[in-house]
Order: sequence, then structure tokens, then C-alpha cells
Amino acid sequence: MILSGARVALGPGETAPLEIEIRGGRIRRLGRRLEGRPRLRLEGCLILPGLINAHDHLEFNLFPRLGRGPHPNAGAWARVVHRPAESPVREHLRVPQSTRLVWGGLKNLLSGATTVCHHNPTGAAVFRRRFPVRVVRRMGWAHSLEFSPDLAARFRHTPADQPFVVHLGEAVDGSGKRELRVLQGMGALARRTVLVHAVALDAAEFDRVRQAGAAVVWCPSSNLFTLGRTAGPELFQSGVPVALGTDSALTGAGDLLDELRVARRASGLSREDLYRMVTIEAARILRLRHGEGAITEGGVADLAVVRDAGRAPAASVRPPELVLVGGRVKLVSEALAGGLPGALRRRFEPLQVAGRPGVLVDADVSGLVRRAVRALGPEIRLAGKRVRACM
Ligand SMILES: [Zn+2]
Repeated sequence: MILSGARVALGPGETAPLEIEIRGGRIRRLGRRLEGRPRLRLEGCLILPGLINAHDHLEFNLFPRLGRGPHPNAGAWARVVHRPAESPVREHLRVPQSTRLVWGGLKNLLSGATTVCHHNPTGAAVFRRRFPVRVVRRMGWAHSLEFSPDLAARFRHTPADQPFVVHLGEAVDGSGKRELRVLQGMGALARRTVLVHAVALDAAEFDRVRQAGAAVVWCPSSNLFTLGRTAGPELFQSGVPVALGTDSALTGAGDLLDELRVARRASGLSREDLYRMVTIEAARILRLRHGEGAITEGGVADLAVVRDAGRAPAASVRPPELVLVGGRVKLVSEALAGGLPGALRRRFEPLQVAGRPGVLVDADVSGLVRRAVRALGPEIRLAGKRVRACM
């Protein structure tokens, strides 16, 4: 397939009028004029790299936010919300886990995210067949020092060229500072270590993180909800690499587009800095090896196509009209669907979440809705937004 007629993002502030040839799931060529068919005409569009959500718990995205803070630390929050026998957790846990995971994938797809770092096991069969987005597999992880007694072993078993992702410093009391010392004492603060949250750390501690070559995933809306605070200038001026994550709907504000808005308000960082946090910087931190987060020849064809308002890529991140994951169309607007072959169009079902344009997605939306409604009643919400299986 050749994508033609659009501007192509080459960085946060750089574009070129290029055509993209996709073959075998990869970007085969970029060029001013490419021969070949079929062609998908994208006049008036801007092609961005698919975004990268560096932290989510996919199975919790139909849940409402639970346990509004401020709490002193994540353990205190967890003890308040962990009520599996009580409503609403009880009803939500009745939705099959595979169904909940796919809904989490759809939350990300609708925002233009094509890669997600899911913080939980990724072995389930549901990830292997028609899952809406790419889920990072080459990684090690542990929940946290508090809830993972085997953290040191998990770290050791993570190959040096893969990220080891762990919640740390999700606190505004002294417990967070203790955690960095304990992690370092175990020998688990290293180049491959990726600390999720790190709200409790000060400038000197971020300097230790930087010296170790480790990185941070920042989830500001989740932090503000549970702790009433998030990381500030001491993180952004430390030189520690930072990626952005939504966390799940249990605590996060919504999808990655919502998170970018919260992040900008909370930090005053430039759109360019934030764009890097959901593209190339996230790819580097998560050790993604196939060109994710960029549009380059030979890289995976993970693309999010948006309406072109003539602005720079960093100022153009908005709900997508078309999303490709590994060259496969996973989401398309009704306006662009007419340009796709009929056999392909038949795979799609309509989906709309409140406040966003209706789109067609490559998923069994009617089945997903049915299985959710059976447990939750007629009104279901995806990361806080009401879902409709029609447009
Ligand atoms: Zn988390």
C-alpha cells in the first residue's frame, strides 16, 4: 500500500510532503513520488508516528476512578480501593479479563497510541490475535518494592538490553525516598531500570537515577488523583530521560491525549518536549528496536493519521482519522474508509466514545459491548468516557 497526498512528520517540528510505501508491516520507502498500488489518498492529512503509551494496566480501563486522594502513598491508596467483593469492583471483575484487556487496547488505539507498555503479564492469548495495539513484550517488570517480594530476582532475570519497569516513589511521605535507597541497595537501579511515577524523589535522588542511566515514566493525572502532587522541575531539569504514561482508568484522567493535556498544564513543558515523551524518547527508554515512535525507512509501519491544520507535528496530536499498526489498518474514520478495499472494510465495526468523533475499528465491538454490559449494565465507560457501539 502507498499512502499519498499527506505531510509526513519527521520530528516534533519538522514535516515533508512524502509518500510512504508499506510492505510486510514495515515502511519500505519514503519518497516524493512512489510507483505502486493500491494507493490510499490522504490529502489534507498529517501522518504522525503511532504514539507510545509508556504505562498502562490495560485490564482496568472500564473501571471508574477509585479512591480519590490525597493519600500519603500508593500502598495507602491500594488498601482503600482493594475491595473485590464490593461494588463497583465486584461487577467489573465479572467482565472477562480478556474482554477488559481488549477495551484497554481500544482506549489506546482511539488516542493514536500504537504501542503500550502494559504493566502486568502479557502472555494471554488475547494479545496474540487481532489485539488493537502493539504491547511491549521484551521487558521485565515488578509491581513495586511493597508488593513484589521477588523484585530483585525479577530484575536479575531481565536481560540487560531490555527495560525493567517498576513502580517507585509513588508517595508524598518519606516512604518514597526509602524506596530508591532500597532499590539501589539491591543492585536494581541500573541502565535498564525504568521507574514509574518517582513523585517522591528530589533533585539529588534524580541525580542518582541519572548517574545510573535509569529512566522515569511520568503519569501526572494519576499522581494528581492519588497523591495530589506530581513530579516537577527537579525531574525535568535532571537530565533523566522521561516518557509519558496514562496509567489505568482506576487513577488516570483518560487516554494519552488527555494525559498530554494534563502534562502540559502540570509542567509548563513545551509541546515539543511532550511529543518526544510519547514518541522517540519513549521508544528509547523502552528499548523498542523496530523504529517505533518515528517514521523511517525500514521501521515498523505504526502510524497515526490526523487532519492537517498546517501546524507542526507537536501541535497536531489529536484524535486520529486512521491508525495503522504494523501496516494493518486498525482504526479509520468514515471519511477515509471509502478509500479502503471492501474486503478490509468488512472487518470494521463502529465505535464512539463521548467527546470524540465516531470511528471504525478492527475489533468485535458488538461482542465486547455485550460482554461488558452483561456485568455492568447498559452504560459502560472507557477511561471515563461513555461508549456507544454506533456512530
Ligand atoms: Zn501503574
